[in-house]
Amino acid sequence: MNKKKLEHYKEILLERRLELSADLQRQSERGLDQDRSDAMDTIDQADSSVAADLNLTRREMITQQIRDIDIALEKIKREEFGVCESCGEDIPEGRLKARPNAIYCIQCKDEIEKRGNLK
Ligand SMILES: [Zn+2]
Repeated sequence: MNKKKLEHYKEILLERRLELSADLQRQSERGLDQDRSDAMDTIDQADSSVAADLNLTRREMITQQIRDIDIALEKIKREEFGVCESCGEDIPEGRLKARPNAIYCIQCKDEIEKRGNLK
């Protein structure tokens, strides 16, 4: 991948990272009570532990995405961006366009998901 493309993806990733961090910040600032009543509006279950779990899962999801982006940015620095972390093959550009923080090719991602190591 050439430098121009790397720069392009870097910009997208940095922007996405900012959005996710802001989102994460909002999630923490709202506090548990707020999250609880919010979640209860959307799910038809008066179980606060379920609601709290949902909130945690959302935060975990964002944290995971930020982690992926950090790895992708690190790969850009090493000029290895677009190469699968697992098998070393090129990740198809269509996939990178749809998901710039993808660090695995589709085959490896499927494998990892099947093993249950990736959320
Ligand atoms: Zn792979």
